[in-house]
Amino acid sequence: MSASAPADPVMRVESLAMKFELPQALLDRLASRPHRIVHALNGVSFALMRGETLGIVGESGCGKSTLARCLVRLLAPTGGTITYGGRDVLKLEGAERRDYNRRVQMVFQDPYGSLNPRMTARQMLSEAIRFHELRQGKAVGERVDELLGLVRLPLDAADRYPHEFSGGQRQRIGIARALAVEPEFLIADELVSALDVSVQAQIINLLLELQQRLKLTILFIAHDLRLIRHISHRVAVMYLGSIVELGETERLFGAPGHPYTEALLKAAPELDPARRSVVDAVRGELPSPLAIPRGCPFHPRCAYVMDRCRSEVPALETHQGNHAVACHLHDAGVALDGRRDLRQFKA
Ligand code: SF4
Repeated sequence: MSASAPADPVMRVESLAMKFELPQALLDRLASRPHRIVHALNGVSFALMRGETLGIVGESGCGKSTLARCLVRLLAPTGGTITYGGRDVLKLEGAERRDYNRRVQMVFQDPYGSLNPRMTARQMLSEAIRFHELRQGKAVGERVDELLGLVRLPLDAADRYPHEFSGGQRQRIGIARALAVEPEFLIADELVSALDVSVQAQIINLLLELQQRLKLTILFIAHDLRLIRHISHRVAVMYLGSIVELGETERLFGAPGHPYTEALLKAAPELDPARRSVVDAVRGELPSPLAIPRGCPFHPRCAYVMDRCRSEVPALETHQGNHAVACHLHDAGVALDGRRDLRQFKA
């Protein structure tokens, strides 16, 4: 059985794949060597319920940001489907595509890089409102004031330029610009990772408040487990372009079902200070997405590796309710919480 999806998902992603061909060096071309292929996404599937927050977590290079860019069509995936409100997103064109781009908005990690330095906050917000013809005349200015209030900025912020704001304020402008087009779905890619911890908390709390008030669905991408746990209803753990575990947040943090999730949690002592000296980190280096290991991609780093792990790719399968894990340990019928009895499998 594949990973179970919510009963009435607003977005459904099936077997999404993304490969990039690297440019060839002259010597490789002369020697007719094949192009090197980066396997950034390798069959990602999940579904999101309206109004929920799904956290996506994993190390740098695991495919989180590529996934986000595919969902908003900044990148064209090389395989798989994305369905939103029952429509095939990758086939939308013209007005339908613009409508999707309005409904599904992305907020970037670096608001300074994504805000036009020559436009005031008012100009940026007005431009977005007018582009989608959401207000006319005087109502545009009123909507700008409303948006600044929503993100807790004073009204005089409207006439300031990006360089006149602090990092946290710029991120609020980035959120206001996304909200300007009245989206249903926000994709937040490392939204606060460039901010101080105290400012991070303010922005995360703002996001939680906005979600409740505007009934937003959120895909929250981060490498910080503490933030993911705080904000997400469910969490998907990604490793080398695949989801290896997906489940409700407290279930996943309390009893991880995949050895990679377990290692990530043990490498994050702030989640449980008692664990501080138990395990240092996920052992070994993350393999290159140019050469994904055969079998289970995690096997070179896994503390429980078995023979079959080196040749058979484990499928993401549902165990215990709607908790999904991609690991051969579960085929043996071993309960997730009992897996610690399987230490004989340690390499
Ligand atoms: Fe480890 Fe094997 Fe499970 Fe992969 S399939 S996570 S190598 S036990």
